[in-house]
Amino acid sequence: MPRTLHLSSLLIVNEIFFIEDGALLIEGSKIIKVGSRLDFGDLNNYEIVDHGQSLICPGFINLHSHLLYSKFEKENTSDGLFPWLENLLDKIQITDENTFRDSVNRGIEEALSTGTTYIVENTPSVLSIEELLKSPIKSLVGIEVFGSDEEEAESVFNDTMTAIHELPLQKLPLRESTHLELTLSPHAAYDVSSPLWKLLVGWAEKNNKPLLTHLEESPEERFWWQEKKGEGVNFWKKINKLDSKLKYWKSYRSGVDFLDQNNLLSKNMIATHLCQAYRKDITALKENNVSLVHCPRSNYYLSNGLANIALWDELGILWGLGTDSLASNDNLDLIEEVKFTINHQNLYNGYKISDSSAFSAITSKSAKILHKDIGSLKDGYFADFLVYDISGKDSSKLADPYHLLIWEMRNKIDLNKVYINGENVWSNNRRKELC
Ligand SMILES: [Zn+2]
Repeated sequence: MPRTLHLSSLLIVNEIFFIEDGALLIEGSKIIKVGSRLDFGDLNNYEIVDHGQSLICPGFINLHSHLLYSKFEKENTSDGLFPWLENLLDKIQITDENTFRDSVNRGIEEALSTGTTYIVENTPSVLSIEELLKSPIKSLVGIEVFGSDEEEAESVFNDTMTAIHELPLQKLPLRESTHLELTLSPHAAYDVSSPLWKLLVGWAEKNNKPLLTHLEESPEERFWWQEKKGEGVNFWKKINKLDSKLKYWKSYRSGVDFLDQNNLLSKNMIATHLCQAYRKDITALKENNVSLVHCPRSNYYLSNGLANIALWDELGILWGLGTDSLASNDNLDLIEEVKFTINHQNLYNGYKISDSSAFSAITSKSAKILHKDIGSLKDGYFADFLVYDISGKDSSKLADPYHLLIWEMRNKIDLNKVYINGENVWSNNRRKELC
């Protein structure tokens, strides 16, 4: 197997360690040694790729997306979650298969071209899986599950299992077993009945799979749990989903309270949003080792509020970042999500997140949530990394590579190459044309 040594003037290994004049030795899809150029002795022993004045860092991990909606414009967001969902459903109903395929591919291209090498996708459609399998980007795909009628829990679960087993994974060109992993995504606490949740949690724990869900996203959810009121009621009525929800409604403090009181919180759960969660909710999630995902720009555009990251950190919760879909965001650029997180937490909550800590939320911390050997440039880890052009940057900038990456790199111009499994899967041709 060929061994390739990548040379770079600045190598970010992880959020606490970086190397000037660094070198990264790759064999096949894995990193086998990381160090300074001098550690490798006679460079004639290797096939050399010299990236010159560059910054190399681990590929980014997006913990929450819906690529299927990448072609939809961000609109009707300021009225809140449920009116926006209604608008989204209208668009879905008039969209054909080819447009959805193009939509997924637009999202994949946008993610790759901004340095995302691993994406967590939530989808109701096999189309997302088929298109992701054709692309080099790695993914965890949660098939969305809905079902509020307790009596139908078993049949919904059995249908979901059948659908998963019938997915045409074998017919598609699987690159590696690590390339795409399937799991389930119960849409939200309010969209899945307690017995169905029980079956899904049991399945996730037995099969050692993550369980993806939206949780405490909007203030309207709390009105539903506490008072059986709110915009959600109007929305479910319009889509004929209200009756089963009313039939089994019981008062809870919140969606987390519903899950907690029914013993449905699980360490396998990766829950997204939590902007409207109470301290009690976050504490219950921590006690059950649930991992959390923050999607600040989507939350902001949908007027859903801001997650209490200071509390998440105080309790030692493992959390990462997601972009949500292009129907509620401007782009899928995780560096933009990081900047927004740092600025908003500081501005509205008075909470300062360091550049290196924010960097870990799109690399090593997210990798830990996913239990994957990615997100750091480490011996034995997958060679998923990014090459930024830093020629022209003052050498004093190298002393703080996290600041340089987050505040001075522009993905559209400065991201030069993306590597996944040691292969160069994306190059910035537009930038080259400009040179
Ligand atoms: Zn979402």
